[in-house]
Amino acid sequence: MSLLTVGTVAFDAIETPFGKTDKIIGGSATYGSLAASYFSNDVKLVAVVGDDFPSADIALLESHGISTDGLQIKQGEKSFFWAGKYHIDMNSRDTLATELNVLADFDPVIPDSYQGVDYVMLGNLSPQVQKTVLERLEKKPKLVMMDTMNFWMDTAMDALVETIGMVDVLSINDAEARQLSGEYSLVKAAKKIMKMGPETLIIKKGENGALLFKQDLVFFAPALPLEEVYDPTGAGDTFAGGFIGYLAKTDDITFNNMKKAVIYGSALASFAVEKFGTERIIKITEDDMADRIERFIDLVQLEGRI
Ligand code: AMP
Repeated sequence: MSLLTVGTVAFDAIETPFGKTDKIIGGSATYGSLAASYFSNDVKLVAVVGDDFPSADIALLESHGISTDGLQIKQGEKSFFWAGKYHIDMNSRDTLATELNVLADFDPVIPDSYQGVDYVMLGNLSPQVQKTVLERLEKKPKLVMMDTMNFWMDTAMDALVETIGMVDVLSINDAEARQLSGEYSLVKAAKKIMKMGPETLIIKKGENGALLFKQDLVFFAPALPLEEVYDPTGAGDTFAGGFIGYLAKTDDITFNNMKKAVIYGSALASFAVEKFGTERIIKITEDDMADRIERFIDLVQLEGRI
């Protein structure tokens, strides 16, 4: 099934306890579409960059079968830039800079060839733009998933709540779920957030896994305990791309299949954190993936009855 990913295609400067990078490529749509490309060979990207964005990196996305017909390149303008520094526990970070640049007046264009798309991933981006994308789709997609972050809660809460009301699945982290709902208990937070619109909610808890909520149903997937964690940037977007990519591949949006999608999303995110930026997720083999999924199953499987 076809899958549209919208979000940022960006430059990031990252500092973790294990090192520091200058401007490397990142962005929610970069991570999300690369992750989804491991499941769907019909991934379509909508985003904007400036003329400073390297054509080799656009070619890299295309080499993963991602259509860049919807990627606007603004002459004389600069790409979105984000800088972040992780704390020693790597589960929390400070944003050092968010330079919207081309994103400030991004008017998303949906190419004709993208119309009729089945699955939509609204990656972390201005909620107004996320909403505009949905309004410009001529046919209602089978499933719309949205990811966001505290930045938009701080700067555009009303628009954010409006867009959340239009989607089927929302994915956010635990701190953001608390901020959005005003509740400490994640169960209470989930109930409040699902009342805002999304039937399904995913609360990501970094190295502590992810919770999947739908009505009264809850599923928990751990994160794989890893020996090497260098850079958590993009793990959430990679998770989301893997999750919706798996749904698009199987074309099954039941709760049971979403549980499997959470495992696939978590498996992909576990690759993302092993190297800086997109370095690891651009070269995942089928064997790598099968091995990770096996490790997930071993991690949670119990022999016999308790
Ligand atoms: P994650 O670690 O999954 O939260 O995603 C990190 C990615 O999100 C980085 O590659 C950034 O370029 C991108 N990013 C950071 N801030 C924003 C923002 N306000 N809107 C959209 N994307 C952002």
